[in-house]
Amino acid sequence: DQARAPDYLSGLNPEQREAVETIDGPVLVLAGAGTGKTRVLTTRIAHILATGKAFPSQILAVTFTNKAAREMKERIGHLVGGAVEGMPWLGTFHSIGVKLLRRHAELVGLSSDFTILDTDDVVRLIKQIIQAEGLDDKRWPAKQFAQMIDGWKNKGLDPAQIPEGDARAFANGKGRELYIAYQNRLKTLNACDFGDLLLHPIRMFKANPDVLKEYHQRFKYVLVDEYQDTNTAQYMWLRLLAQRPPGVPQNVCCVGDDDQSIYGWRGAEVDNILRFEKDFPGAKVIKLERNYRSTEHILGAAGHLIAHNEGRLGKTLFTDRVDPNDGKVVVHAAWDSEEEARAVGEEIEQLQRQQHPLNNMAILVRASFQMREFEDRFVTLGLNYRVIGGPRFYERLEIRDAMAYFRLVCQPADDLAFERIVNTPKRGLGDTTIRNLHDYARARDIPMLAAAADIIETDELKPKARKALFDVVTDFRRWQSLLENTPHTELAEQILDESGYTAMWQNDKSAEAPGRLENLKELIRSMEAFESMRGFLEHVSLVMDAETNENLDAVSIMTLHSAKGLEFETVFLPGWEEGLFPHQRALDEGGRAGLEEERRLAYVGITRAKRRCHIWFVSNRRIHGLWQSTMPSRFLDELPSAHVEVAEAETSYGGYGRNPYGQSRFDKQEPFQNSYSTPGWKRAQANKTDATRDNWGTRSGHAVERIGYGESGPRAKTIEGE
Ligand code: ATP
Ligand code: MG
Repeated sequence: DQARAPDYLSGLNPEQREAVETIDGPVLVLAGAGTGKTRVLTTRIAHILATGKAFPSQILAVTFTNKAAREMKERIGHLVGGAVEGMPWLGTFHSIGVKLLRRHAELVGLSSDFTILDTDDVVRLIKQIIQAEGLDDKRWPAKQFAQMIDGWKNKGLDPAQIPEGDARAFANGKGRELYIAYQNRLKTLNACDFGDLLLHPIRMFKANPDVLKEYHQRFKYVLVDEYQDTNTAQYMWLRLLAQRPPGVPQNVCCVGDDDQSIYGWRGAEVDNILRFEKDFPGAKVIKLERNYRSTEHILGAAGHLIAHNEGRLGKTLFTDRVDPNDGKVVVHAAWDSEEEARAVGEEIEQLQRQQHPLNNMAILVRASFQMREFEDRFVTLGLNYRVIGGPRFYERLEIRDAMAYFRLVCQPADDLAFERIVNTPKRGLGDTTIRNLHDYARARDIPMLAAAADIIETDELKPKARKALFDVVTDFRRWQSLLENTPHTELAEQILDESGYTAMWQNDKSAEAPGRLENLKELIRSMEAFESMRGFLEHVSLVMDAETNENLDAVSIMTLHSAKGLEFETVFLPGWEEGLFPHQRALDEGGRAGLEEERRLAYVGITRAKRRCHIWFVSNRRIHGLWQSTMPSRFLDELPSAHVEVAEAETSYGGYGRNPYGQSRFDKQEPFQNSYSTPGWKRAQANKTDATRDNWGTRSGHAVERIGYGESGPRAKTIEGE
């Protein structure tokens, strides 16, 4: 009865409302950008709570980032009028996976204080395994194998299940063996990698139906946002948790948009959308077609672009919002990336003068290397900005070293941490000593720190090394004894001081040393927000997106991949050039599918904008000091002139005279499609060298992003206005 509907339902359109109110039985919401999918999920949770269908702890809700989870929780609170008491199972697949694993670690052969390894640790570990097999790690690079393992895990494959061809492809047919050795080693280290955070729970549930049943009883409602980007392992996990015996309603609701599937390179399977109706029979499929986010021009541009993809499920989008004051999407040309940054900076300052908050603006780049130019420029201008998801603070050398100390204090079996810092700062512990220690530890199957404590009681080592190792062991014993009762930030500082690590950088005369010391300070500062050192470590290994100082008005800079689900009044999309966007590597590796994924990424980019969208391309890009002349992205040709205009020759900043693209093609009423094909800028011969490809921000950059350090990076990166 509409009249007495609770407040939180009143603003919804009929389809949204249906998606919110159909809480029993499977529901799939398939709809384009900005149609309110996330809003539907949030309202649905509020509705479940408000109608007393479940307690907060009985709802399993998956978001794509931790930040999205926090926001969702906050909004649910608003909707139901008051803070929600705990939603322990609202988070990313990975964070929920960790939670499950901590509870049931012993069922997969771990103990509950297991360590989560990051990509770097994984690569180092694999390298050791490859060497231990007597293989040449130059010929068979650890990094490559790490990616293979990651790929298998995304597909939910245990060593026994990997395809024969895959197993044969690496190290003369030793792929499977190495994968097994790696898993065994992880077990010994009481560690797991990111893939295991999904695979272990799956194994656990399969092997322990009683445990699974317990969770079936617990989770009355299951919800998933950004469903189009789930990979096979995530889907298996989801199906295990959401499927119910025949006759019991399967209360699962997934929302997604096939046009926004942008993680295929990481194993996401759009086909999961199609499988849903099969695996959850009787699913109600709801389409939302009204866009509430963007202007007609922005929608028109994005819609026209994405229509160039084949094999779409096909959706219509419309908006009621027709305002003659809304501008078209604007395409700008610049000579090089420096000028691009300068021009974007000017645009931002102009908006700022018109009282537009910086918080409402974002720069979305294809590759993270593009960020630096904007950062430099904004520092010069004194414009506040925050970098979301990158330059990853926690990946800096000094931060990783410090973290290794902390990890080893909390988790004495963490051999990778031990190896990282045992001779940092230099203590005269040479390779031979370390190797001895390593062998000693392996022979007895004990962690290296424990081996060190043993070996100093013997006369296996030379006196000098023995003394040095004695000091290390004593230090760690002391720090461990302080762990429970000393405030963790204090202990952290003490560890860095007493280990000589701080002094190492104080004595370092290089230009970076002062910056490194500042970063270490910032690291300690960032720990304050946590209750314990363990909590902090877990956070660092998990967090996917950047913690930002919400109070500061600042422009956001991030990759297109991390912009998913977000929205801003004004969006700047720089670097629309062939080779960069679409990215050469995506084209080389993915062919047509790769191109289509790039196009979806462009669609995601444009549809982040509510009111204003500015696209840029440059004719020259300097990469590692070398100039490359570039061609405008083919995506520019795919934008409709009805919704897009080319900026007038921009004379407000210098250097434009050199630019061959200065004159406005738009004046001449040429069809937009041809506007980039005038003689000055033939695109025909896109013969980029391999060197060029490698120099563009590589995809592995994004793989790292998934690990998602840098929660406090942006804080460190936030520049106060002058
Ligand atoms: P994306 O695909 O980009 O994740 P989405 O489908 O999840 O988009 P939302 O982020 O939920 O879309 O909604 C887009 C915007 O439209 C938000 O600002 C949201 O508050 C607003 N919105 C959604 N539904 C309504 C509605 N019924 N009335 C008013 N505003 C709405
Ligand atoms: Mg959304």
